[in-house]
Amino acid sequence: LELDAAKKEADEARTRAENVLAQERIRQNEARLLASLDEWLQSCKSLDELFRIVRSFMVKLLPGSAGELFIYSNSRDVLDGVCSWNTPELAPHITPDSCWSLRRGRHYEFTREGMCFVCDHVEDSLGAAAEGGAHYLCVPVVAHGDTVGLLHFRFDGLRRKETGIEDPARFAVSCGEHISMAIANVKLRDELRDQSIRDPLTGLFNRRFFMEAMRRQMGAGSTGFGLVSFDADRFKMFNDNHGHDAGDMVLRTIGDTLKERLTEGEVACRMGGEEFAILVPRPGREAARDLAERLRVAIEGTQVRYLDKVLPAITISAGVAAWPMDGPDPAAVLRRADEALYRAKDGGRNRVDEPA
Ligand code: GH3
Ligand code: MG
Ligand code: MG
Repeated sequence: LELDAAKKEADEARTRAENVLAQERIRQNEARLLASLDEWLQSCKSLDELFRIVRSFMVKLLPGSAGELFIYSNSRDVLDGVCSWNTPELAPHITPDSCWSLRRGRHYEFTREGMCFVCDHVEDSLGAAAEGGAHYLCVPVVAHGDTVGLLHFRFDGLRRKETGIEDPARFAVSCGEHISMAIANVKLRDELRDQSIRDPLTGLFNRRFFMEAMRRQMGAGSTGFGLVSFDADRFKMFNDNHGHDAGDMVLRTIGDTLKERLTEGEVACRMGGEEFAILVPRPGREAARDLAERLRVAIEGTQVRYLDKVLPAITISAGVAAWPMDGPDPAAVLRRADEALYRAKDGGRNRVDEPA
């Protein structure tokens, strides 16, 4: 009898040890999966690349699961569907108040047990399934304290045995945390890059980027390019008459006019103050001259409203030059265009000129 008791105890001890080992194996497996996800996420160069990685990893890590990733639009009134896996169609947009996790500011797991309400954004797709064994999870994507999106997981079709994961919802929350961190990093990198190459007032490129773009355009196989340099006429007087804020408004409007009219490959920048330049990736001066003339007419005809009045029209004077005919390097070509610009000023302003 004592022998039986001792044997039973030994069996129990072995079962306990086996359980601990099994748990440890599951934990290690999950940690390994997360580490490999992380490694890929960290090497992403763009959000698009990141979304592709999320899709292929989720298919592998949670086989049979389905899901969607949404990111807040710039206006922040909706979230745009950016990637999905194992779903027939990705909703193009959802509203923030259609999700309990976004409203409550923490992840939300829907199961049949417990007090649970279906989010509006899953209601349609879930339909009758909600009455059965539906199981889903929503995880807010939080970057540097800001909620930037939503990860939605559906576990209905999950092939649990294949996953080697004990609690898919807990694991999915961890995935969400890693994905959030990676999105934050890519966004931060994009913002820093943007700040270093863009002018904040107009959103056009800055001088540094422009000089670099010209150098790139001189690369092997290049057949040449044109350049427009222009400057707003009598802008000091405009500021004196209407105020600096009205002047800023005009500069922003000039930026918008450029963005609307530029075609493929053309690069516009604010060189500083009320001076702008455009790279025209076609050989010779002619295309640049045509563009300068069209912009001159467009800007002269643009009405700018400031507070409750319409400001008087602004005009520009422009100079054009081309590489390689007007100089061997970016600085030399730009100098030639500026000389032509000064001649346009001397000639009476509101006109386009070019080197003799
Ligand atoms: P010109 O026709 O010869 O170009 O005359 P101008 O008055 O435009 O030329 P000037 O170079 O004497 O003056 C440029 C003015 O542009 C001076 C400055 O008040 C204004 N300016 C430069 N940068 C900005 C800016 O960011 N915002 C505003 N509102 N004005 C600016
Ligand atoms: Mg000026
Ligand atoms: Mg100037």
